Amino acid sequence: MSKLAQDLVHHYSAGRYVEGRSGRYGDIYNPATGQIARQVSLASTTEAQEMVGVAFSAFEEWSAIPATRRVQVLYRFRELILLHLDELAELLSSEHGKTIDDAKGSIMRGLDVVEFACGIPQLLKGEYSDSVASGVDSWSFRQPLGVCVGITPFNFPAMVPMWMFPIAIACGNTFVLKPSERDPSCTVKLAELMTKAGLPDGVLNVVNGDREAVDALITDERVQSISFVGSTRVGEYIYQVGSSHGKRVQALCGAKNHMVVMPDADIDQVVDAIMGAAYGSAGERCMAVSVVVMVGDQIADTVMEKLKPRIKGLKVGAYDQKGVEMGPVVTPDALNRIKKYISQGLDEGAKLVVDGRDISISGYEEGCFIGATLFDNVTPKMSIYTDEIFGPVLCVVRVTSYDEAIALVNEHEYGNGTAIFTRDGDAARDFMARCQIGMVGVNVPIPVPLAFHSFGGWKRSLFGDHHIHGPEGVRFYTRLKTVTSRWPSGIRAGAVYNFKGGGER
Ligand code: NAD
Repeated sequence: MSKLAQDLVHHYSAGRYVEGRSGRYGDIYNPATGQIARQVSLASTTEAQEMVGVAFSAFEEWSAIPATRRVQVLYRFRELILLHLDELAELLSSEHGKTIDDAKGSIMRGLDVVEFACGIPQLLKGEYSDSVASGVDSWSFRQPLGVCVGITPFNFPAMVPMWMFPIAIACGNTFVLKPSERDPSCTVKLAELMTKAGLPDGVLNVVNGDREAVDALITDERVQSISFVGSTRVGEYIYQVGSSHGKRVQALCGAKNHMVVMPDADIDQVVDAIMGAAYGSAGERCMAVSVVVMVGDQIADTVMEKLKPRIKGLKVGAYDQKGVEMGPVVTPDALNRIKKYISQGLDEGAKLVVDGRDISISGYEEGCFIGATLFDNVTPKMSIYTDEIFGPVLCVVRVTSYDEAIALVNEHEYGNGTAIFTRDGDAARDFMARCQIGMVGVNVPIPVPLAFHSFGGWKRSLFGDHHIHGPEGVRFYTRLKTVTSRWPSGIRAGAVYNFKGGGER
């Protein structure tokens, strides 16, 4: 039995909380104090398979309900999220560490996808061809897959699950969600709210766990698709194992997003953009800007001079402290990993302009805090450039031409997001066309597509063919069926139908 049974996060299945039976538990930290706040049940293989069984049994009935009725649940779910926004944000921040405003913002971005999913009946419409041959018609329409699985990361415990299950469920699928074991409480709460919104039992299930649960889900023959969001190491594994078991897989993975600053860029706009994009959510965002490529020393020096005081003035603290702009990182392990990268950067010869390692927050001395950190003169061979650090550490690389800048963007193994800052439409247009990146911003540092567009990277930032949510999301969670039909003909030739006599001709 867990030491912290009263603070244990349970699974959620068939419309109720389900206590774990494996006897294995994961620790959940309060990142602000650095102390273990609760524990979460880690499912065994059998428990994960049982969850799939519940979703499998619920599929036939749920998929037979017309889409117009299925989405009524999502309309009510939307209202419930708004009603419970404070509670959800508190749960999220207390386990993740991000500020309450950030938490609310991310929940609202998830809600955008719910709103998009409310329009599924329109998106499931097929195509029709009249008379493809004499007396023959043909049409196509989209049908749900069956049991879909979602495996999600710690950094957006509400938004990323909401990229997945509202669309999957609106399309007529049933769903098993495996959230991050580091901050699962908010995710489980979402499932409870879906039940309150009227979702039939078994359509959405949440199984908590680690690799054991994941392996059970991605190899289960009843599972039709896997949506994964997380690191490239794990995503590539899930893609390979899931695909070899015949499943449709989309794995959205790690990133190293470059922001190119041209000599003619608006300096103040650049500085504002860097502050938000590099240090917002303590850099724990797959769309965070982690590399700034400065084209020319002149703009580089000017931006650096303006950036330093802004970084030093950033208010770091616990999520519920007044005026806090940046919270801690998620766990002591994450903090140590980030600090190790900073030491490596120094060893490799980068210039540490602002060092966030020595920060101490009064009253939270043991918390997982690290201040915003800035490196200059970073080169492409350094580990702080090649690796995703996933913390508030920004690398500045100086180049002398636009061609060098775009080559850097394209040669990096990741291809999630990028941005160019310039006043030159010609440069912006060329950049947009030539960069090998999934999401591109022009004077927009974090070009996250809205819910009715699709989100996804290129290269090793995405394995699979489909981006997530928007039209690609609908395609991912459905299969196309094409019907060709011919009816007995003759009515034009004067055939007489006598329905009173049992419909015989
Ligand atoms: P992670 O890969 O450690 O974990 C993601 C999920 O995989 C979790 O549910 C976790 O339990 C599971 N998992 C972890 N190790 C596993 C293993 N060995 N076998 C099977 N499953 C395993 O990622 P994280 O640290 O939670 O999240 C941060 C990462 O997510 C970053 O790399 C970030 O870039 C990425 N991310 C990407 C996007 C995107 O859209 N591309 C969005 C958000 C986060």
